[in-house]
Order: sequence, then structure tokens, then C-alpha cells
Amino acid sequence: MALKALDIYKLLPKKNCKECGEPTCLTFAMKLASGKVKAEDCPHLDEKVRELLGASTRPPVQKVKIGVGERSFTVGGEIVLFRHEKAFFHEPGIMTVVSDKMDADTIQEIVADVRDHLMVRIGLDLRMNGIAVCSEGGSPSAFGKAVEAVEAVADLPEVLMAEDPAVQEAGLAVCGNFRPLIHAASHDQYREMCALAVKYGCPLAIRAPDLGSLARLSGLCAAGGASHLVLDLTSASLHEVLNSATAVRQHAISRTTPALGYPIFIDTRATGLPDAALICGVLKYGSVLVADAVPKESRKAFLVLRQNIYTDPQKPIQITPGIYRVGNPGPGAPIFLTVNFSLTYFTLQGYLEASGFDSLMLIVDTEGLSVLTAVAAGKLSETLVRDSLKQFGVPDLVSHKTLIIPGYAAPLSGRIEDETGWKVLVGPRDAADVAEFLEKEWT
Ligand code: SF4
Repeated sequence: MALKALDIYKLLPKKNCKECGEPTCLTFAMKLASGKVKAEDCPHLDEKVRELLGASTRPPVQKVKIGVGERSFTVGGEIVLFRHEKAFFHEPGIMTVVSDKMDADTIQEIVADVRDHLMVRIGLDLRMNGIAVCSEGGSPSAFGKAVEAVEAVADLPEVLMAEDPAVQEAGLAVCGNFRPLIHAASHDQYREMCALAVKYGCPLAIRAPDLGSLARLSGLCAAGGASHLVLDLTSASLHEVLNSATAVRQHAISRTTPALGYPIFIDTRATGLPDAALICGVLKYGSVLVADAVPKESRKAFLVLRQNIYTDPQKPIQITPGIYRVGNPGPGAPIFLTVNFSLTYFTLQGYLEASGFDSLMLIVDTEGLSVLTAVAAGKLSETLVRDSLKQFGVPDLVSHKTLIIPGYAAPLSGRIEDETGWKVLVGPRDAADVAEFLEKEWT
């Protein structure tokens, strides 16, 4: 079980010597419990305590990095069973399949699409992650050529899906330096696959018929030097995938079976319900999800779902307070005041763009709260508006003194007028009505 801060504190030397960089042993214990420092940072621990603290405070699901460079991604490192307990930290990588039976042009078209597809939502870039190259004919040279075709187009993270070590090595000979995920070791050939993982410094996916033998296999692979593992829980039954993924996460988080404390791999094609398997993987602990090329329309849904699951529920996504321009606003342009909750900002910005009115947006710091919550919590106040007008030099940007506030901030309108000396117009509650509002109210 993971140790709590007070349990850790009892094991510390309590010298308060600050050599760990923390002011007291208690602070060190609290940070160690939340994974912000390492047991090794305290030089006064005896060997046994250091080992105990190290084992009980490192993330119960090991982190594994796939790929190198800008598009590489890390999975694992999770510390809770349910998102509301803290957060899920490392979103699953979605890997699009190409087969070594496809011709090079088809492969390259798919790879270019994964490389170039970009969706921006609430200020964040959302992308598919990489390519899974699948050996279908068992031919080393066909597999090597397919990997070459991928490499010719993009530096994307890859999964090399070939169970025959000779075929696997033909792919690794092309891209082994770029840290692809090797898929997959089984009890029959794990020695050869571990040797390849060690030789090329790559993570290794493993698979076995049940969780008990999967745990034994992970121990064997770790002993063989391949310690960056990913557990393949692919099954023809979606129900089975869900059950085993939940069981693996429970074993890992409770630390009852550290040999299952690794990220999870799911090949969504195996169930015959690939879309459902992809949703299941995103929602329930999948870390590497292999799928056939996802049509652009569904891609948007998967990416948004993943973004929603892997944002910190206790930390709203915020935008930096300041002045933002929509179009090319002159001194007579309307100024919209709103909060720094990203979703609010991007929603209003989108509707302002669509309205065709060049405008200014004054974004004030409400710690990421939405308008309604910020008003109720007293985070959006007349003094904040007064200070923000001054801080961002708004009087120098326009030739008028009229501020448009959100409809939900209407109760503050009189106080803002008194505090700032600006005329306040109460805007619509729904940003979708902003164009109609401007046509009627802004002359
Ligand atoms: S180095 Fe160790 S003993 Fe010193 S303050 Fe930090 S935790 Fe306490």
C-alpha cells in the first residue's frame, strides 16, 4: 500500500537539517507522499528505510516513454483508480495501423494524415499519436520495407507488431534508435524479445492468456533486463478487456501485485467493435490504443473525450489574463470583459470571430472559474475590473469608455460603473447571441 505523509514522517530521521532542500522533515514527508521528491533526496536514511520508502512512494503504474523527439509521448505514472480522486496524468497514445501487405503509397498516405491532422480545442493541440506497423505475412523483408515507408514520411512514435523475433528485428534495424514499442513478448519467445528490447533500448509489450501468467511474464522480462513494459490486454471480448483493465489497475494502485504496475495496451480491432473498444480504452485505463485509420469525424469525438478525461478536474484550464484582439480592432471597437476560464474565452472568441465585428477581449483573472461561479464566489468583482482596466492599459486602446460584461455578471454592473467610471453594457448570457447583441447595441 502507498504510505501516507504521516507514516512516512515516522520513518524519517527528524533532524530538520534542510539538506533535502525542504524546510522540515514533515514538508519532505508530504512532498514524498505526493511524488514531488524522491526518497534518495534525504541523505540520512538508512538503506532499509530508503528501499521501503522508494518502493511505496514511486508511482504504482510505471511510466513508459514511446518514441523520441517532439511527437514522443509518455504513458503510465498514474496514481489513482478514479479521476476524481486526483487526476489522470498521461493520456493514451492512439496508434493508427498500417500493414506490411499495403503498398508503400498507401502506407505513406496514412502516415502523412496522422502526421498532419491537428485539432485545436480550448487552446490545446489535439493529435493522433503514431503508427502501429503490423506484420501480416511473417516476412522480415516486407516488415522492414513497411517500417522504411513509415520512416520516409514522418518522425512519429511507432509500435512494431511482429511476434517472430526475426521479423521484429528487421523493423528494429530500421527504426530501433527511435524507441518504438516492441509488440509483443509471450512465454514462448520472451528471452529473444527481451534481448531485442535491451539491445535497442526500447519498451516492450507483453501478453499472456491470463493475469496470473502475465504477472509472471512481467517478472521474467524485468529480470531479463526489459523493465519498461506495457501489458497487452487485447481480447475478442470487450467485456473481458474492461474487466482485465480494471483488475490490472486495481492490482497496480493497491500495490498488491507490483508485477502488474505497467501501462495497458489494447488492440481495438480484435473485438469487432473497434469504436467501442477505443472509447473503453480511453475511459478505462488504456495507455496504448491501436486502431485502424479513424475517419476524421469520429477522430474529433475520440480526441475531445480523451482531452476531457485527462484534464485535472481540480484545475480548470486557464488562459493568461490580458487584452486579446479579434480581427483588427480600432479605437472605436467594442470591449468584452470576461473570465480566464479557457472554455469561456474560446467560446466567446469563436462567436466574436463569426460576428464579423472587430473587437477587444479583456480577460480578467478569476483563477479559471466560469462567469457564474466567479460572480457567486466573489472572484469577479468591481475592484478586479478596475485594476484590470488599469493593468492592461485599456483606456489607451480605445476612444470610448464603454465596457460590455457577460450577462451572468449583470448584478455587478452598477458597482463596476461606480468603481471604474465606465459605462457598462450587460451582454448576452449565451455567447451565441453576441452578433445579434452587437448589431442592436453597438453603434
Ligand atoms: S534531509 Fe532528511 S533529515 Fe534533513 S530535513 Fe530533509 S528529510 Fe529531514
